[in-house]
Amino acid sequence: MTRVARIAPRLLAWHASAGRHDLPWQNERSAYRVWVSEIMLQQTQVSTVIPYFERFMARFPDIATLAAAPIDEVLHLWTGLGYYARARNLHLAAQRVRDEHHGEFPRALADVMELPGIGRSTAGAILAISADLRYPILDGNVKRVLSRYYTVDGTPGTAATLWQLAEDETPHENVAVYTQAIMDLGATVCTRTRPRCTECPIANDCGARRAGSQAQLPATADNGTYKFTELQGAVEGLTAVLKGLTTPPDIAEQPPIGADLAARLRAQEPQLARELRKLLQEIETAS
Ligand code: SF4
Repeated sequence: MTRVARIAPRLLAWHASAGRHDLPWQNERSAYRVWVSEIMLQQTQVSTVIPYFERFMARFPDIATLAAAPIDEVLHLWTGLGYYARARNLHLAAQRVRDEHHGEFPRALADVMELPGIGRSTAGAILAISADLRYPILDGNVKRVLSRYYTVDGTPGTAATLWQLAEDETPHENVAVYTQAIMDLGATVCTRTRPRCTECPIANDCGARRAGSQAQLPATADNGTYKFTELQGAVEGLTAVLKGLTTPPDIAEQPPIGADLAARLRAQEPQLARELRKLLQEIETAS
């Protein structure tokens, strides 16, 4: 059932005066720049991403340059950002765009979601922000805002309910601004801990604020993200240890593993990697 959008007009007005307008990827909103920024921002703070984004764009200013670059160079520029599967998928996806879409980033949601490392929410964000196309998003920030405003609990069907709410709330005009606005609200006002409800433009009819249940929401939505990052970290840590590739900083302090365990892991690596990647994809799709 389609509901009437309740928050979009207030978010658009709020964003004009209080939203973020000076982020580097907001200057020139090409699909490529928005795409790279969205991938870098997954599980990573804006302030951390900015210098990485600027260096990445200086070296790989467009899809063709990224697709033609050696993967080692891409990983080198990613060193310190963590979750290196993001960089590998970005590189692979750039090659797919070059080879299968004549070098032009696709505009159909299904085509974008076919690219490695891009789920439904990221695909929606890229198309909405770069091309003003009406696609909903449901990243961690948006899940938090919608879960609290509509007091969506953790019962089965939560993900479908939240996607429906995200769809209903996405306006038919000013999609790019609205998308940025709800992401900004979640990042700067409706924060995970201590949300600043007194500064929130949708506070007067927010269900969680009325019930005082901000700390309990979202109930299960964030759990999926937690599992995803944990597993993603495990895959990358294992890969780095076994193959001697770039060592992510978050495992650098770990003690070395014994020779026996290393040999057993090395023997099982192909199967482990296959199973973990499959699991990651399932969790990302479900979260
Ligand atoms: S009123 Fe508070 S809990 Fe509700 S959406 Fe705003 S910041 Fe979040």
